[in-house]
Formats: sequence, structure tokens, C-alpha cells
Amino acid sequence: MDVKINIKEFEKKLDGKGCQLVAVTKTKPNDLIMQVYETGFKDFGENKIQDLVAKYEALPKDINWHMIGHLQRNKVKYIAPFIHLVHAVDSLRLLNEINKQAKKYNRQICCLLQIHIASEEAKFGLNKEEALELITSEEFKAMHHIKIKGLMGMATNTTDQEQIRQEFRGLKILFDDIKREFTGPAIAMEELSMGMSGDYQIAIEEGSTMIRVGSAIFGHRNY
Ligand SMILES: *Cc1c(COP(=O)(O)O)cnc(C)c1O
Repeated sequence: MDVKINIKEFEKKLDGKGCQLVAVTKTKPNDLIMQVYETGFKDFGENKIQDLVAKYEALPKDINWHMIGHLQRNKVKYIAPFIHLVHAVDSLRLLNEINKQAKKYNRQICCLLQIHIASEEAKFGLNKEEALELITSEEFKAMHHIKIKGLMGMATNTTDQEQIRQEFRGLKILFDDIKREFTGPAIAMEELSMGMSGDYQIAIEEGSTMIRVGSAIFGHRNY
């Protein structure tokens, strides 16, 4: 598997589609990541804080690191100085902690709200009402070190393409609704993070601006 070729092919596929690639490097070694970096590609995603911090420390500092996994409040402090985008914010309490840590470093941390769109129970995320409640809360309005840049969602792990499409479509509708009704210093709906190796084509057709792709670039993961 030649990761450089894979990255180039994804870039070609996305050219002109208004959709960005985040290369998901979880469980993959630094030398493989460096091969991709050397093509000029700079946006990488991890889902575990410990791995994310270790890779941040070992790799070039101009990489844009994306935290794509569930984030625990007590771990925000480890990524606050450098994180480029937090994809999976799913509570006001977490947002509060990110705001607090961002303030320490005198920066504004960009976040996406994770919306639960899958039919499986286990996945994290807010429903529509919870997302709207968060955005309209006084607590959120008082946060000056946060920028909500959009939404993120994961479709059901199924072979039913139509179901996946409907889930992505529902997320896009919510994205557009929020974008129309809410703008301000702490919110600007620009990014819709949806689509992974198995469903990114559908996600792009349904309006994704950011796909998170791991195994289609780096091969299958051995845990
Ligand atoms: C692992 C992961 C991905 C990438 O998954 P692939 O199927 O390997 O492309 C995308 N998003 C999240 C949140 C992940 O944890």
C-alpha cells in the first residue's frame, strides 16, 4: 500500500468539490505519517488523546491536528495548546472546559458539535434539541475562547446505502438551519464533518465539507 499515491488520489477526487480530507492516522506509525506529510499534506486526525499528544510531540509542528474521537474533560488540557479542530463536542460541560483551557493559552479553539445521527445506541453525540439548547444557552454565549465551526456526525455502520444517505441528509438540514439562524463571535457554521472510508462518497454527495478517512489511505488497522 503506497500511502503517497492514496493521498494524491483522494486529493484528485476532492478537487473542486469544496470538501477537505482529514487523514485518520490512529494506530499508524510516525514514519508512515511522514510519508504523507512529505507530499505537502498537513491535516491529520486521531481519536485518542495519548496517541495524539505523542504524535504531536514527535512530528513537525505545522501539522493541523484534528481530535476526532470522544473527548473527556480531564484530558482537554493536554491538547489545548495546539489542537486545530475538536470534532466531537457533545456537551456544554465539555465546551466549558475547552473554553477554560483555551483561555489559559490565550487562544480560541475551533470545535464541531457531534450530532447523533446513527440508529445504533452506542455512539456519542447530541440530538437536534440538545444542540439548539447548547447554542442558545447563556453559558455558551459567555464563552470567548470557543468557536463552533460546524457539525460532525457518523452514520450507522450498515450496508444500507439509502439509510446512510438519509442520515447524512438529515445532518445537512440541521447544519443549514443552524447556519441560517445563528451567527456570532462564537459560532460560524462552515464545516460539516461527515464521511469515512466506507461512506465518504455518499457524504460528499450530501454536502460534506470534511471527510475523515483512515483505512482507505493507510490500510486496515490492527488493534
Ligand atoms: C477511525 C475513525 C474514522 C476513520 O475510519 P475509517 O473507516 O478507517 O476511514 C473517522 N472518524 C472517526 C470518528 C474515527 O474514529
